[in-house]
Amino acid sequence: MIQTVTIQVRPNNAKNDFRLKKTVAERLNISLSDINEMRIVKRSIDARSRDIKINLSVLTAYGDDARLPQEKLLFEKHNVSLQPEVHIIGAGPAGLFAALRLIELNFKPIILEQGKDVSERKKDIAKLNLNQGCNPLSNYCFGEGGAGTFSDGKLFTRSKKKGDNRRVLELFVIHGAQHSILVDAHPHIGSDKLPEVISNMRKTILECGGEIHFNKEVTGFEINSDKITKIICGSDSFKVNTVILATGHSARPLYYTLHNAGIELEAKACAMGVRVEHPQELINSIQYHGNKSDALPAANYTLVHQVNDRGVYSFCMCPGGIIVPSMTADNQTVVNGMSNSRRNSPFANSGMVVELRIEDFAEYKDYGVLAGLKFQEDLESLAFKNGGQKQIAPAQRISDFVRGKISGSLPDSSYIPGLISSPMHFWMPESISKRLQEGLKAFDRQMHGFASSEGILVGVESRSSSPIRIPRDGETLHHIRIENLYPCGEGAGYAGGIVSSAIDGMNCAEAIARK
Ligand SMILES: Cc1cc2nc3c(=O)[nH]c(=O)nc-3n(C[C@H](O)[C@H](O)[C@H](O)COP(=O)(O)OP(=O)(O)OC[C@H]3O[C@@H](n4cnc5c(N)ncnc54)[C@H](O)[C@@H]3O)c2cc1C
Repeated sequence: MIQTVTIQVRPNNAKNDFRLKKTVAERLNISLSDINEMRIVKRSIDARSRDIKINLSVLTAYGDDARLPQEKLLFEKHNVSLQPEVHIIGAGPAGLFAALRLIELNFKPIILEQGKDVSERKKDIAKLNLNQGCNPLSNYCFGEGGAGTFSDGKLFTRSKKKGDNRRVLELFVIHGAQHSILVDAHPHIGSDKLPEVISNMRKTILECGGEIHFNKEVTGFEINSDKITKIICGSDSFKVNTVILATGHSARPLYYTLHNAGIELEAKACAMGVRVEHPQELINSIQYHGNKSDALPAANYTLVHQVNDRGVYSFCMCPGGIIVPSMTADNQTVVNGMSNSRRNSPFANSGMVVELRIEDFAEYKDYGVLAGLKFQEDLESLAFKNGGQKQIAPAQRISDFVRGKISGSLPDSSYIPGLISSPMHFWMPESISKRLQEGLKAFDRQMHGFASSEGILVGVESRSSSPIRIPRDGETLHHIRIENLYPCGEGAGYAGGIVSSAIDGMNCAEAIARK
């Protein structure tokens, strides 16, 4: 017989094969020796009470000669070098997964990416962390793998209806990610592992006859009879039949290029705020009820509260992580978070953002559909003016922020370029600061100590979602007017995060094949 058995075990026993086997045997009412094979297929933590449990679903083969079916993780490589071409702008998760799916569907992907390959990109990222300035084409957001490469690599998504989540995870595993991402309820790859996974994806695309051109910033489009006929990259150009536009939501210059080329865009609701950071021990102690066990991973949290008709919520929580400088130009201050696969930094951080609707950008109405983008730009430049030099970021203790008081000193932080104490309650737009203050007070009631002086706010987390949508037809997925243009991923406003961007990339590839 083969059966999936759901069990709950103490954290110390979750990796003890004998204990697990014993628990499964008891659950099935069989003897230990009846079990031939077991495979954990789902794992989650239940930390609602002091008695923390690990929930496991275990696929079990028992009795007679029962054996578990082999797990087949396959990407069938074949040569597409002579097949119809599809140009993809942007090598982030949306662009890369579109390319992989196009190969499966017998098309030749040609990726144009403004940034550098992973190893060259690392040098520009090192400069950012040394507070030596930002290369506008190569940074935490731009380059091979897009914002996904040096991201945290959390692969959890709430949007399960848009496509094949499992296939995205499988493709990551096929390209070198740890198998546990197929099992964990909150899968996580880690910033230390992602670069290699991404360069393995590049190898697959090239081996199959696809092309990847780095240092190719798309600066314009030639449009004839509502079709893109040429992509312009400075002095270079590419004749095209079909284009997937997967440039991410940090590609501000590209939104202006599209707008100036008369390609329709739409304003969209989004969210902006700050990053908060606490000692990981404090978060562990709150979330695990003071229960200190080495068998438990660094704890995380998800917080949501409604303030004056807007959501205030935590986002992209990185247990055991660090805050990173994720601006894409020198006159901006933008932060984000990441963690390594072991999640072993002494800090926990998360984005703490406020929902913003189009009416919140009323002051910017002269900018039309670009109003939210302009609001975002101004917020980042305000943070820059209130920060120090280059990548130094403004910060405030959470307890001071909620009381509207400047911080006399700041605690240790993971943010390498450095922090400067700044009255963020004072200079941030009220639509954000007032709601954040209320939200943080509410979160302190839910997680006692959250708004204490041990926690800090670092500014600003302005790129959690795109303030622009590039409208497309719901069925064909091509742009509402330009029928050979497929706006895709986070920058097009149809995804948020690695998995949903990857799924959107695969969906666009399939839409092209259907056409
Ligand atoms: C530090 C950090 C941590 C994150 N952690 C997580 C996480 O744990 N989990 C999660 O789900 N998400 C995370 N994210 C968000 C996630 O990375 C993005 O949602 C995702 O990468 C979006 O994918 P995309 O392909 O749509 O766009 P992007 O990844 O932004 O890729 C777009 C690519 O297009 C290129 N491009 C832009 N303009 C042009 C042009 N004109 N010409 C040519 N190329 C161009 C860019 O250089 C870039 O490489 C994180 C982001 C950051 C910055």
